[in-house]
Amino acid sequence: MRCEIVAIGTELLLGNILNTNAKYLSEKLAELGIDLYYQTVVGDNLSRVSDTFRKAMERSDIVIATGGLGPTDDDLTKEGLCHALNIGMSVHEQTLAKIESFFKSINRPMAECNKKQAYIPEGAQIIENNNGTAPGILLKAKAKLFVLLPGPPNELYPMFENSVYPYLKGNAKYLLKSRMLRIVSVGESTVQEQLKDIFDNQTNPTIAPYAKSGEVHLRITAKAESEDLADVMINEMESKVRNILGDNIYGCDQESLEAVVIKLLQNKNKTISLAESCTGGLISQRLTSVPGASKCFMNGIVTYSNEAKQKFLGVNEATLRKHGAVSSETAYEMAEGIRKVSGTDIGLSITGIAGPDGGTAEKPVGLCYIGISYDEKVETYKLMFGGNREKIRWNSSIKALDIVRRIII
Ligand code: ATP
Repeated sequence: MRCEIVAIGTELLLGNILNTNAKYLSEKLAELGIDLYYQTVVGDNLSRVSDTFRKAMERSDIVIATGGLGPTDDDLTKEGLCHALNIGMSVHEQTLAKIESFFKSINRPMAECNKKQAYIPEGAQIIENNNGTAPGILLKAKAKLFVLLPGPPNELYPMFENSVYPYLKGNAKYLLKSRMLRIVSVGESTVQEQLKDIFDNQTNPTIAPYAKSGEVHLRITAKAESEDLADVMINEMESKVRNILGDNIYGCDQESLEAVVIKLLQNKNKTISLAESCTGGLISQRLTSVPGASKCFMNGIVTYSNEAKQKFLGVNEATLRKHGAVSSETAYEMAEGIRKVSGTDIGLSITGIAGPDGGTAEKPVGLCYIGISYDEKVETYKLMFGGNREKIRWNSSIKALDIVRRIII
């Protein structure tokens, strides 16, 4: 079954409002396993609305429209559909009575134009709207299903949820289920290259990569007759992908990198402290945003100046003089210093040049050193990050968290 969403409203074309109804409906249709091939946006114009319905019914089995069910002259959805189908409209008495009693209840006269909302296409059924006066419309015609829903999301969501979703579910043969694998350390093109065979031969489940800032997300989607069957299919695909990408996959679905690091620290009963320079507390902020972080996150300090690195972490003045604040030696002493002063199992440090100023030929913008002190040893990593200040800081925070993750596992 092919579905198409038609969003009606000049406001959408002018960019005054975002088409969030289409996003909502698309997600729900995916959940139902209904293929959505087209989304169209059309302004409040009778001939263009009816043309859009004509086109939609040529290529789709289900057409879901949103907006344009109100009482004013520019609300033309029902009229557009009737033109396209060459049918008329008649008054729906119960709806008319409901609208009349609504106006009575708020003690206001009902304008003549409000009657318009009680007119429905011939052969249509109404979908109750408990949050507004315009009912939704369900119409089977020319072997197609037309669903007309009001534009305001607070009316559309409950109507879809309570009436349309169960109706479509009752008629649906398949459902779609997805799982998102979250990947670090390798870029989108590398993922694509490494999974080439799987990409080339995918049918069901399908896989699709998405580049996120500093990460890649890979969505596995299965179409199946039941959720259990979809799970089995997804698990099979996931293990194929894991065999290739291994530890570069750090989590699933909503799990963030910082949440995975906190979970690992908790499971292994380890504590961590941080000394940050170029990231200015970003890594500490990310870790402490995870509920329950207090069990393993002891403290994070921002030692931005050379003086602070000496005073709070015991970095040697000679080290700073000889190698500079952005060096492997300084990252080493920062990591060891913070671990000792905090009494934690792990001490993590980061020092780098986030730019836009401060770079030299020898130490360019984007150069970053990460130190990690654990099990009586210290490791340092020299890294280069591209992009602007924000991107360098963000990507270096990802790298630092990933180093902790890999050391724990
Ligand atoms: P009403 O009876 O309130 O006039 P309607 O069904 O005629 O409802 P529209 O007049 O087209 O709907 O839109 C009313 C409001 O609903 C818009 O101003 C906007 O806030 C919201 N809306 C309409 N379409 C969308 C959409 N596609 N996505 C998100 N919001 C929308």
